[in-house]
Amino acid sequence: MLSAGEVLDLTQSRIVYICTNFKKMISEKELQQRSDNKCELCGSEENLNVYEVPSSPTNVAETSIFICNTCNEQIEDPEKVEPNHWRCLNDSMWSTVPAVQVMAWRMLNRLKTEGWPQDLLDMMYLEDETKEWAKAGVAEAKADAVIHRDSNGVILEAGDSVVLIKDLKVKGSSMVAKQGTAVRRISLDHENEKYIEGKVDGQQIVIITDFVKKI
Ligand SMILES: [Zn+2]
Repeated sequence: MLSAGEVLDLTQSRIVYICTNFKKMISEKELQQRSDNKCELCGSEENLNVYEVPSSPTNVAETSIFICNTCNEQIEDPEKVEPNHWRCLNDSMWSTVPAVQVMAWRMLNRLKTEGWPQDLLDMMYLEDETKEWAKAGVAEAKADAVIHRDSNGVILEAGDSVVLIKDLKVKGSSMVAKQGTAVRRISLDHENEKYIEGKVDGQQIVIITDFVKKI
């Protein structure tokens, strides 16, 4: 027979179980209150929208932040990034909201070659799980970014064969790789989506993907 205490324990553990698996969707109204109707990254009061932080773990309740269009556009499109806009992170990186900390960390990480973002990153303190969350997004973005495509936009994979669509001077030598040359079993540069490698006339060369067509 169970005593009253054991029954109570069972009930509590069930409640805990349900809570950890229940992802609470924070409403726009709650976000407006939390942010005081300001962009949680740059403080702007215009064109605010809910932004769902990508690569969020399932056991975190509040995975949305309230941000302005300017921040949103620059997060989504790395080519539109104006580093100076993100000096706002100087303030917002101290937010107590983990989802805001995550996006601040990711943007600082993206801009760290500017110098000052690296200084801020060095000052920033994140709980271990928040840091994992922040890094998860970076790994995913990286995997997305390095996709090699030929001149027609066809995805290239290691081991594919391509043909050169124009004569290419090989840097650092007098060699010219002729248009129409087939390059078999290419390999991919994992840092740069524009670079592949392959052998032409027995020589391993780097070729820019814009000048090849998959065969
Ligand atoms: Zn903003």
